[in-house]
Amino acid sequence: MTRSKLYIDGQWVEAKSGKKRDIINPYDASVITTVAEGGREDAIAAIKAARNAFDNGGWPQTPATERARLLFKLADLIERDQEELARLESLDTGKTLEESRWDMADIAGIFRYFAGLADKDAGEVIASPNPSSSSTLVREPVGVCGQISPWNYPLLQASWKMAPALAAGCTIVMKPSEITPLTTLKVTELAEEVGFPRGVVNTVLGIGSEVGAELAENTDVDLVSFTGGISTGKTIMRAAAENVKKVALELGGKNPNIIFDDADFDLAVDYALNGVFFHAGQICSAGARIMVQDGIHDKFVEALKCRMEKIVIGNGFDDKTQMGPLISAQHLKKVQRYMDIAQDDGAKLILGGTTPTDPTLKDGFFFMPTLFVDCTNDMKIVQEEVFGPVITVERFSTEEEVVKRANSTIYGLSAGFWTKDPDRIKRVSSALRFGTIWANDFNVYFVQAPWGGYKQSGLGRELGKAGLEEYTEVKHIYQNHATEAFNWFGV
Ligand code: NAD
Repeated sequence: MTRSKLYIDGQWVEAKSGKKRDIINPYDASVITTVAEGGREDAIAAIKAARNAFDNGGWPQTPATERARLLFKLADLIERDQEELARLESLDTGKTLEESRWDMADIAGIFRYFAGLADKDAGEVIASPNPSSSSTLVREPVGVCGQISPWNYPLLQASWKMAPALAAGCTIVMKPSEITPLTTLKVTELAEEVGFPRGVVNTVLGIGSEVGAELAENTDVDLVSFTGGISTGKTIMRAAAENVKKVALELGGKNPNIIFDDADFDLAVDYALNGVFFHAGQICSAGARIMVQDGIHDKFVEALKCRMEKIVIGNGFDDKTQMGPLISAQHLKKVQRYMDIAQDDGAKLILGGTTPTDPTLKDGFFFMPTLFVDCTNDMKIVQEEVFGPVITVERFSTEEEVVKRANSTIYGLSAGFWTKDPDRIKRVSSALRFGTIWANDFNVYFVQAPWGGYKQSGLGRELGKAGLEEYTEVKHIYQNHATEAFNWFGV
């Protein structure tokens, strides 16, 4: 098992309060391990260490090629320990081992991508209105970054933050979700093995209202990057206003998956399932809001139901398992509450809606694949993020109508649609107001493409070049090569 302490200023330390937290396996509610539970005082110590490493430790001045070298090495170590990391992630989250293996392969690639970008920006010469001057733009690291990650893709989300911040020359205090800290701890250990200078990488475990809130409020933090729920994002944004710190937010989504009559039917059914049931629907970009055109609606619902009935639920470590449990007892209750809300609003439940009857799963936080039909735009289950294995199906007639309805949400993370008509692909891609659009696919993301939300799904972008730029400030350097007297104020 990995370390269980906080990593502050190059040391593994217990929480100052001495507090501990049990980490629970969602498959059977057993205790996997016990870790230190940090508080505000630990966050403050970590912020001081990161501040010192940034201001006095020389990290921002370290040549970009050297920062890149360390990040490439970290990627190699992640690859070396990939299987151990994948197993830890599946233990901690309940997701299938296969899914965790995909995540780990991605994560090594993310560190490599940002390592590769670290030394590519040599600044930019811009036109200056004065011909005897020169103007250059340079990007410099923002400074000390507080990074707060969620429980659904614990290490993947952490890596989207750690890799670009370190590549840019920032120092970091990472706070993983208190319920899934194990892989972030392991990667912190690997960062220590790589040899990042003291104070550059700090990891503090603890709850959001203590450690997370300190990272958002503390005036020694220059940027706070957060992935999680909308209401927490709003709290963080308010707290960050104290020193006008930069804020990067990756929040929730309610993502439409639109199936037009002329779609490739079998592919659309297949990807409707892929869009929702990975990690039991606990995906910010889950395509849980399915909108199907009149001509194929009934056939599509029938095919979906038929395939959903066959989804194998169980232990993520069992090869046959296709879907694991929800993350916690508390989250299971939240998903269960939506069953009544949906039916009170008039949605018709035609599959699932309960915990499984299989006695071997009774201790875990499992929920059956669930299908609601006859859903309408105004229903809470259609508008709110359930974050579970729950699909709502809405019927539509025209392209114009479905685009309007799909856009009528506070969220704007991602949307997908299925059609063979190339003109419609252009029109609908342009009309949908979401940060990522998938035409004839779903839930595809890769490190080269920026990821983030329109509207209340977030602020800023992760991944891609934009993901590195989040961690930089732009400085304009103007030099006058032939300064002449101005004499406005007399000689
Ligand atoms: P959450 O908001 O409850 O918690 C996220 C993190 O914030 C945790 O580390 C938590 O400890 C911390 N936190 C909680 N209260 C805080 C506070 N007052 N101040 C500072 N930090 C605080 O979210 P969650 O339940 O862990 O994650 C699920 C949510 O994350 C979903 O809404 C999902 O859509 C979203 N998400 C978004 C993306 C994306 O890319 N947009 C990716 C993954 C998850």
